[in-house]
Amino acid sequence: IGIDLGTTQSLVGVVDAGFPILLADAQGSRMTRSVVYYGGAEAAPVVGAEAWRRRVTEGARTVVSVKRLIGRRAGDHAMEDGKPDRGSDGEPEAGGRFGGMGPEVRAGADGSLGIVMDGVWRSPIEISAAILRRLKEVAEAALERPVARAVITVPAYFNDAQRQATREAGRLAGLKVERILNEPTAAALAFGLDKLGGRSRVAVYDLGGGTFDVSILELNDGIFQVLATHGDTRLGGDDFDLLLAQWLASELEGGWSGLTSLERARFLESAVEAKHALSFQEEVEVRLPFWRGAESFVRTVTRREFEKLIKPLLERTGKLCRKAMSDAGLTPADLSAAVLVGGSTRLPAVREIAAEIFGREPDTSRHPDETVALGAVIQAGILSGAMRRVVLLDVTPLSLGIETFGGLMNVILPRNTTIPAKAGELFTNAVTDQPGMRIRVLQGEREMARDNWTLGEFEVGFEKGPKGSARVGVQFSIDADGILTILARDTKTGLDKVVEIRHAAVDVSEAKVGEMIAQSVDHAFEDMTERQWAEAALKSRELLDAVAGALPLAGDALDDSARGEIRQGVAGVEAALEAGDLRRLKTANATLDEATETLAAILVEQAMDAAVAKKMGI
Ligand code: ADP
Ligand code: MG
Repeated sequence: IGIDLGTTQSLVGVVDAGFPILLADAQGSRMTRSVVYYGGAEAAPVVGAEAWRRRVTEGARTVVSVKRLIGRRAGDHAMEDGKPDRGSDGEPEAGGRFGGMGPEVRAGADGSLGIVMDGVWRSPIEISAAILRRLKEVAEAALERPVARAVITVPAYFNDAQRQATREAGRLAGLKVERILNEPTAAALAFGLDKLGGRSRVAVYDLGGGTFDVSILELNDGIFQVLATHGDTRLGGDDFDLLLAQWLASELEGGWSGLTSLERARFLESAVEAKHALSFQEEVEVRLPFWRGAESFVRTVTRREFEKLIKPLLERTGKLCRKAMSDAGLTPADLSAAVLVGGSTRLPAVREIAAEIFGREPDTSRHPDETVALGAVIQAGILSGAMRRVVLLDVTPLSLGIETFGGLMNVILPRNTTIPAKAGELFTNAVTDQPGMRIRVLQGEREMARDNWTLGEFEVGFEKGPKGSARVGVQFSIDADGILTILARDTKTGLDKVVEIRHAAVDVSEAKVGEMIAQSVDHAFEDMTERQWAEAALKSRELLDAVAGALPLAGDALDDSARGEIRQGVAGVEAALEAGDLRRLKTANATLDEATETLAAILVEQAMDAAVAKKMGI
């Protein structure tokens, strides 16, 4: 399974039948609140929506945003831009947003930060493990089988201690953590950015519930490296909720500070709802019926008003993005892509600021709150072998070969051969003392050379000699850049001829490839007949040549009837060639072949006699 262990929400998924999918719990929700409620020192922790509901009345036993504490020690705060370890409302962390009712954060015996509830100190590892265990259960229920291995994501800025602690939490939850994956890398995987060519750089802007971070990644051979990362662990959707809730309450007597924690919770709840609605509509009416006895609360908020409230926070994300880019030594033009991740990037104002910073329309084709989880699932799928890393290799769009005797296409590299590739064949002289051969490099799917496209042509010389004595190897090789090199080597003399054909071998328009294939299908029957004819005719030539050469040598050893049979056979072949009838030619070839059997035997006998005589010195 792949797990996005988020500050506010967590998700789990698996690769099913080759596809990454996220799994839903019994209520049909794919998101699990990263909230844990402890009913007492001995009670089993409650995770998710139910814990989220309890935080209002039992804040002291409910842990939110435990991710902020994991792997951290007292005095570590300096790493968060010098900000104190406090919630956005100035209250202590973990439940403090609801009026200081959250459990107490305290350093444990080893100096690591933990949370005290009902007099029990609990480590963030243990609390995170409760969330992970819950996700494991969701997966097991959905899959109806046990799950043992996981990939878990963490922010790119997590240090070693935080990563180790996350790993440990997984172990405690009964999972073998196969990999701790950076969240921006997971997002890039989910967007398929690992398929970008060469050395591409991408920006990942992640604005979630509690945190913001931006990472600049560089892709090298399908592997991502973090060039730079910046962020704010106290900036996210929760802050927008709080600002809006405070704004809503601002017209009340006593304002936000005059509210009880329960009232604050109700205002916050309404603020979240209103915020979500404002991502899709221009204004929304917030209603809290009978919120104080008979009194009802109604206030309209426009998108413009809301954006004004959060503007300083959005500008801060912009500043951090520029910092990250300058750290990476890049300008927006150097980026191949910019993707938005995290539920808060649904806000139109966030999309606008991202477009401005990265100088392009950001890719919003994925569910922003699901991308990190999907990336974790993909990574898990790759590791488990359930998902093959789809690397698109270049292939030869059409067959490549050379023209051989009889005007035939002789394929050396078939169509759809993945490149780089290398293949070759040996050729010889068809006639005695042939001075050389012309090599025509062809591309196409047709049987006859003339119907294919000629990419190049060159000559190779043969050493003088009897038919079939020359040995010329022709090798085709295409490198990764699609350059076709043809090497013709006379294996006897060692002389090479090298011809290079740039790109033509792979750069063919889809339309032309389609046309060529369609033609080869249309003409498949004629092509095949023609090839067979050419091959049969070639055989006839060979036979006729052989008979013409051997007959005078046989002398008296060949009787008249055999001689007559051969003469008849020759006439039959010649007539069939003349008539252009393939079937007749094939039969004639076979008849002549049979008729020459005695002749061939006589010649072999003669040759043996000669050899023996020579050996004995006669
Ligand atoms: P994290 O990774 O920090 O757990 P998520 O990526 O799941 O967080 O994002 C959660 C945040 O996204 C919450 O603050 C939620 O209010 C916000 N969010 C979800 N949908 C919308 C929306 N339509 N408009 C604005 N914010 C949204
Ligand atoms: Mg997240």
